[in-house]
Amino acid sequence: ASSDSPAPLSAKRIQVQLTKDPKKMLPLNQLVFGQTFSDHMLTAEWTASKGWADPKIQPYGKISLEPSATVFHYAMECFEGMKAASAITAGDAITAPLCACTGIRTASFSYKDKQGRIRLFRPDMNVNRLYNSCKRMTLPTFDKAEMLELIKQFVKTETNWIPSERGYSLYLRPTSIATQESLGVGPSNRALFFVIASPVGPYYKTGFSAVSLYSSREYVRAWPGGTGDAKVGGNYAPGIRPQIEVAKDGYQQILWLFGEKDNITEVGTMNFFMYWINEDGVKELRTPPLDGTILPGVTRDSILTLSRDWNEFKVTEGPITMSAVTKAISEGRVLEMFGAGTAAIVSPIKRIRYDDKDLSIPLDPKDPNAQAGPLTKRFADTIMGIQYGEIPHKWSVIV
Ligand code: PMP
Repeated sequence: ASSDSPAPLSAKRIQVQLTKDPKKMLPLNQLVFGQTFSDHMLTAEWTASKGWADPKIQPYGKISLEPSATVFHYAMECFEGMKAASAITAGDAITAPLCACTGIRTASFSYKDKQGRIRLFRPDMNVNRLYNSCKRMTLPTFDKAEMLELIKQFVKTETNWIPSERGYSLYLRPTSIATQESLGVGPSNRALFFVIASPVGPYYKTGFSAVSLYSSREYVRAWPGGTGDAKVGGNYAPGIRPQIEVAKDGYQQILWLFGEKDNITEVGTMNFFMYWINEDGVKELRTPPLDGTILPGVTRDSILTLSRDWNEFKVTEGPITMSAVTKAISEGRVLEMFGAGTAAIVSPIKRIRYDDKDLSIPLDPKDPNAQAGPLTKRFADTIMGIQYGEIPHKWSVIV
């Protein structure tokens, strides 16, 4: 490239400045999601004229922006959420017995990772989604392989921050923000990309806990032509108030509906799945299609791919209306429902408020005390097994 064409993002140009003052990690049982951060952050600045500056790994710390920066006014930003886990190498892997009550492996087992191998779960999908979100927000795009390489280098720097206990991981938050100092509504001529990292514990510390949902007609998360399929900050802040309102009545999440037929779109910040006997009497796993209102979840895609590989029931990406759900429940055809996302992998659903009625969703017909159905548990076990390297799979990428 000539000297005056904008520079591409390049992992080779990374500059590393390590902290002189490493922090102490909290005891694992005191970790609260997203509240402690590792020692370093990855940053890369971009300007329209020069392109990407040298990426930097530097001590985690404050960033300085003028109040006029575009991100503060027009939410010109996007982000990702992914996890790095310590590998359990073949010699170290102890298969914890399945807890008879919950079906998930008991949390008290610790796994030593003698070789210190780190794994990312399908990071190419996160990089790809970040690319698409950046494009939607007119934030600078990048070479995807270079971006993945940068994230890997950052994760390697933060190795000490990846708890080696099963179920624990280092949550990564790649983010891009528009930093032009201008109130004009237009593409930003400056941007900052950064990655920060937060050690996190298992979502369910003592086994699954099924959730109650409130299906909202008053609030809508996403709509055709909107940004529901991009991971942009503007999608999230408006969802907080509805959640707070329903929490007062004991509902943990909103079941987001759209359209005249009350189509289910997503649940909280997860994709929605229903395992049922469909109108034709066929066992089917169904999730709403990627029609622009749905975030293309990495977990969603993984569940669909695993199910299609298993080939044990029909798998459909298709509309799910509340009338079909209500009818199926009354006829005893709903088998399991769950949300799917990186944080929890799967989140079983036990109750839905709809039209002033509480609909009861079955969990496990064989076990009245179960907090998750057998298929829901199977997805959790399989995906977690892949993430921690117990089940060899191409989705688990060694850093
Ligand atoms: N939907 C929304 C709105 C989300 O924020 C997330 C979390 N990124 C998901 C679904 C699940 O996506 P993933 O499986 O990639 O975490």
